[in-house]
Order: sequence, then structure tokens, then C-alpha cells
Amino acid sequence: MSFKELNLIEPIQKALRTDGYLEPTPIQVKAIPPLLKGKDLLGCAQTGTGKTAAFAIPILQGIQAEKKSTKGNRQIRALIVAPTRELAIQISESFKSYGKNLEVKTLVIYGGVGQNPQTKVLRQGVDILVATPGRLLDLINQGFVSLKNVKYFVLDEADLMLDMGMLKDVKKIITFIPKIRQTMFFSATMPTEIGELANSILNDPVRIDITPESPTVDIIEQSVYPVDKVNKTKLLVHILKDKKIDSALVFSRTKHGANKIVAYLEKAGFAAEAIHGNKSQNARQLALNNFKKRKTRILIATDIAARGIDIDELSHVINFDLPEVPETYVHRIGRTGRAGLGGKAISFCDFGEKPFLRSIQKLTSKSIQEVTEHPYPLVDTTIKPKERSNKRRSSTKSFESNEQKQNSKETKNGKIRREKRANESKKTNSKNNQKRKSDHWSKS
Ligand code: AMP
Repeated sequence: MSFKELNLIEPIQKALRTDGYLEPTPIQVKAIPPLLKGKDLLGCAQTGTGKTAAFAIPILQGIQAEKKSTKGNRQIRALIVAPTRELAIQISESFKSYGKNLEVKTLVIYGGVGQNPQTKVLRQGVDILVATPGRLLDLINQGFVSLKNVKYFVLDEADLMLDMGMLKDVKKIITFIPKIRQTMFFSATMPTEIGELANSILNDPVRIDITPESPTVDIIEQSVYPVDKVNKTKLLVHILKDKKIDSALVFSRTKHGANKIVAYLEKAGFAAEAIHGNKSQNARQLALNNFKKRKTRILIATDIAARGIDIDELSHVINFDLPEVPETYVHRIGRTGRAGLGGKAISFCDFGEKPFLRSIQKLTSKSIQEVTEHPYPLVDTTIKPKERSNKRRSSTKSFESNEQKQNSKETKNGKIRREKRANESKKTNSKNNQKRKSDHWSKS
């Protein structure tokens, strides 16, 4: 299947050629034809699948077609709402890139920076507005944004919006958009509240599922290093000495942890930067740009800060901490191996994190290669399972209280949902544990 066969107009095909896109990805093949026909879409897909282009291309083509028939001032015809500023910026860059040969104007608005530059551009008129919910609502309330001409509406990463407590704002925003419109709804997971929201705003949608077991994950070379918690930073330094690691995105479960890793790496002579919710928007963007432009080789991130961020040709993802929710692992490692390029994912796993590893292996139906030949092999395997789970719970608790203090945006609901899912994984794990007496780690 080629982009031409998808009936894309020449200026868009030309832009895609310039960007080096040879053929559409599976989600693009599935989504573009119904979207060009004006259908609504419910996409269960993660970033890394090419989903931005899947919705951006039909929107651009639609707006361009309408432009020929309507002259006059620019009005907001497409609204894309995304949970994080980084994601919003990335989406707007994609629109600009795919629409570079068209007469459409795209603006991105987000909080944490002054609103004047944004309102100035809004006054001049834009066709496509990409926004985070809080700033958008602010500017609607101040009369700078009118959504009454919106024909295309995209909600991206809806489940993350739920986790970040943005659903109320999103529902409010929807009341300002005309009911007659084309809606595209994307969520990596579909918890009940998100399913209900999707049902209430979509009209007979086409449903597309690109599951975590997608080839994107299969092409990533995955390995796990059993290591004691106290030795993780030393192991990280050891691994980063490998010159073959061009760029590494290191995931830390907490913001505090991310800062500690940066400090340790700097002491060890490595330039590293961190992105997380406690950093100012400018500091986050600067760190991200430095990393994307290869000025910094190592970026430490928390899950929320890194969600959806697209980094070209990222060679390594390192899970300094394993995530409690297995789907998060898939999201994390999906930062590498983008658009068919291979990549490597290295995970550290201390004794208390073994249940998380098992959940991950179950979800991905893959056993991850274990690397025991390293200078800091796991020795602390003395904790009995029950004590271990208590110990882990209490350490998680301290992580959570830190996170709670630091991330005022995350809601109780989001946390409860994640905890529920983590508990479900724990239950599955304990069942698995009983079954798998022969598991080589359990023996130790
Ligand atoms: P996304 O899932 O939208 O975040 O896209 C992931 C990455 O794939 C981005 O770097 C896109 O530029 C790239 N991409 C999207 N579609 C294609 C395509 N058809 N061919 C090559 N790269 C693509």
C-alpha cells in the first residue's frame, strides 16, 4: 500500500516524501480511508505506531479542500487536545511538517508560559489549534479562542488525561465544539470512564486497535539485569560507558529519583539532564531539545513527562526502575524502535521488582533475556516473599507520597486506577508464583 493509493493530494504526498516516509504504517492504512470519508474514529493505539500522521493527514487534506471553496479569514477548523505540553508541541510540529506545502496555519498553545505570544497569533487567525486542556479553557474563557467553526476534533492520549485529572476540563471544552463534527479519539488503554466518554462523543466510529504486542515492540532487543537496588546507579554508570549507546532515555519511577540519578551521573562525569513535572516548561523543553539534537546523550524522565514523546533514532531505553503497570513498560520501550527502526531496551530489576517483570513478560508474551554477567549481580535474595511484599509496599508508599507531593495534577482517581491495576497484576503474579516453583529466580 502506498500513500498514493490512499488518495492523498500531491502536496501532502510530497511532504511525506521529504520526511522520508516510504509507505503508510498499519494504523495509517486502516485509519486514513475512513477518516477521509468523514467517519469518526476510536483508536486504541500507542505512540510509535504513526498515529499522529493517521489523523493529521486526513484533517489537513479536508481543510485544504474546504479552503478552495471558502475564502476569507482563518477560523479554527481543527482542534487537537493533548495532555502534555511536549506531546502538544510534537503534534503541532507534525501538522506543520505534513502541511508544509499547503496554506494552513497551525498553532500550539499550552500552559506554563506567557499567554501573550499565543493570543497574538490567535488574533491573526489559525486553521489548526493544538492545545493542552487547561490553557485552552483559560483562553476560551477570556474570549481569545472560539471553537464554533471546529469541524475536526481529536482527543489524544485520553487515558493519560484521566490520570492527570483533566477530564473535567476536557468535558467542558467539548461543550464549546459544534455537535456536527468529525471526532477522533485515541487512548492507549480503555478504562471505564474513558470508554464512557468515547461513547458519549463519538458517532458510529470505526474502531482500530493497535495492541501492545505490535511489531514495534517485537523489533526491540530487550534485556533485564538483576541487580540490588543500592547498586543500580553503579550499574547504570557501567552500562553507559559503552560507546555503542548513542543516546539513552532512562526511566525513573519518581521525580526525586530522576534528580538523584542526574546528580550521580554528573559526579561520574556523564552529562545528563532530567525532565519531569517539577521542572519549568522551558527547562523541560530545553532538556528535550538538547537530547533530540544529540547535545546531551542521556535524558532521565518520569513516565508522565515522557509519555508520547517522540525521539528520532533513540538507540536505548533504560528502565532504571521497572514500572508497576506492565503496559507502562510497553509505552516506555516504544520510545525506541520507532517506525520500524530497531532499538534496545535494558531493564534493571531488583528482588522486589521481580513480580513486575513477570507481569511484563506475561503481557508481552515474551521472555526477556537475562544478563547476569555484570559487575553488580543481585545478591540480596534473602527476603521471604511475604516480607518482601511488605517491604516493597512500604517503599512504594514512600515513592508515592513523594510523587503525590510533587505532582499536584495527578488525581486520586488516576492513582486509584493505577493502583487497582497494579494490584491485579500482583494477584496474577502471586498465582503465577505458586505455579512456577521452577522459576530460576524463585530458586535463588
Ligand atoms: P507517532 O506514533 O505519531 O508518534 O509516530 C512515531 C514516529 O513515526 C514519528 O517519528 C513519525 O515521524 C514516524 N512516522 C509516522 N508515520 C510514518 C511512516 N509512514 N513512515 C515512516 N515514519 C513514520
